[in-house]
Amino acid sequence: MRIRKAKNRMKTIMNRKEEILNDRKRKIAIIDPANEEIISELLKNSYETFFFHDAETFLEQNRIEAFDLLICDIAVLRKEGFRHALRKDMAILALGRNREEEAEALEYGASESLILPLPRREVFERKIDRIIRLEEYGRIIWETEYDPLTGLYNSLYFFRYAEKIDQFYPDSDMDALVFDIDRFHLINERYGRKEGDRILKKIAKDLKIVFDSCGALIGRKESDTFLVYCRHQENYRKILSELNGDLVRDRIKPVLRLGIKRCIGKTETIEDRFDRAIQACDIVKDNYENRIAYYDRRMFRKELFCQRLVIEFEDALANGEFQVFYQPKFDIRGKEPVLASAEALVRWKHHSLGEISPVLFIPLFESNGLIRKLDLYVWRKTAEQIREWQKRYGKLIPISVNVSRIDLYDPCLCEQLQAILKEYDIQAKLLPLEITESVYERDHMTIVERVKELKQIGFPIEMDDFGTGYSTLSLIRRMPVDVLKIDMSFIREAFRENGDTGMIGIVIDIARYLKVPTIAEGVEDQKQYTALKRMGCDIVQGYYFSKPVNADIFGSFIENKKI
Ligand code: C2E
Ligand code: CA
Ligand code: CA
Repeated sequence: MRIRKAKNRMKTIMNRKEEILNDRKRKIAIIDPANEEIISELLKNSYETFFFHDAETFLEQNRIEAFDLLICDIAVLRKEGFRHALRKDMAILALGRNREEEAEALEYGASESLILPLPRREVFERKIDRIIRLEEYGRIIWETEYDPLTGLYNSLYFFRYAEKIDQFYPDSDMDALVFDIDRFHLINERYGRKEGDRILKKIAKDLKIVFDSCGALIGRKESDTFLVYCRHQENYRKILSELNGDLVRDRIKPVLRLGIKRCIGKTETIEDRFDRAIQACDIVKDNYENRIAYYDRRMFRKELFCQRLVIEFEDALANGEFQVFYQPKFDIRGKEPVLASAEALVRWKHHSLGEISPVLFIPLFESNGLIRKLDLYVWRKTAEQIREWQKRYGKLIPISVNVSRIDLYDPCLCEQLQAILKEYDIQAKLLPLEITESVYERDHMTIVERVKELKQIGFPIEMDDFGTGYSTLSLIRRMPVDVLKIDMSFIREAFRENGDTGMIGIVIDIARYLKVPTIAEGVEDQKQYTALKRMGCDIVQGYYFSKPVNADIFGSFIENKKI
């Protein structure tokens, strides 16, 4: 499918170019005062001609005007400075006086050379036509095969050439390598696209230096993913540290990681082999100690497991295998903790695998879009339950739900959430939305706008996992937020042996500055609870109070506790 699409796109480019090529009269620049008259006479019917007396005036004009062909005397090409100043995509026809000069011109980079005197009109025209067309087709091929930013193969051609290597050398021991930059999107967000592009070009250049000598094929997939197909080597650790050693000297200091799939037997398609190298590469994402991973049996088993989960998702949803659990949140501002609300957390009670943790399936469903369906289900179930508890216990309790980054890109999101409110006749304030801080890292403005819309409808916005993202204070001020949820890792860090509660203090200060309450999650014991209370944290959630529980058990919380 992907290949067909790319092929169609290529056809369209070709057709469009073909039209352009045939339509217009080609522009020819001529630097050859001695033969000016005769050339003019030969070409005037078919081409637009521009005559220059010397190389300098031509170069000046060439800066603003793109010519299709330059005809010049060999003497002009002898000047090295002139050759370097020429546009790389212009065809050149050099005129010489003998066989030696004819050969010399080609050495200087001329597309073609001719020995004077010039041939008759038909022959000359045909020759010129051929030179221009060869150059133009060459350019079209270049544009379709190469990534214009880095000059590396684009992924379509990379894979096709890799297949050719396999065809010609079926027994050679090859490796599929994928290089990726840690948090490249942050480089784009922070320093701008231009700087991002500069880094990508630098990496492409470094990869060429390192791998060209061993005849490797190098390509760019998209954004910051680089592909290398090469003969098996043992020294990847050294290669990667060389590449990173060079990058560390850059002021932005990007860091590359590497995923490797050994291609023994070559039973999978080339695309599958690289997909697996990408999986390996993902394993070492943000891992500061180890930046290299090989695709291994463990990962293969995980891949099979994930495939199974994806295949069984629809049936599981229909059969009620996904259940919503509720973890209470307690307000600790008063003397005694008071049940304030809860967080809805999904559980998969698999018919044969038992309970599967959301830590396993949520990222998987985020990667293939199934999360949209699952989250809708959880939100609807939660809204239904809020109504149900109200009927049973006469109390309306807010239950927050998790909203994934993928949900935020769906233009129907607001409509869908409003439909749920309408269906169960509940107000938006009863369904706070937990949105993790890191969603703002990419497309900051788009996400902020979408979250603002949600806030305008009336949904309280809880910023989840706060402190793990990379937001600056000035960005946070612009984000729509009603509650800050301190990430669990800060609680863990603070209450370890010799731990330091400084970070929690900072988050509470930020919340005060924003005039919003704080929630601490992952509170596991009395010591943590009392310390958080003393520091001025408003709400707590964690195993010390309760694990996530099913709707019936949470019902008894509502029944027995003050809200
Ligand atoms: P999260 O939103 O940060 O949820 C908090 C996680 O911490 C939950 O894990 C919860 O069970 C766990 N937890 C709560 N108190 C404690 C504690 O005292 N100690 C420890 N060690 N853990 C505690 P869970 O339920 O496994 O969910 C993991 C993550 O999966 C969630 O992190 C959330 O990102 C995602 N998730 C869960 N349910 C949904 C859902 O319905 N939709 C979406 N989009 N994501 C969900
Ligand atoms: Ca959450
Ligand atoms: Ca969280």
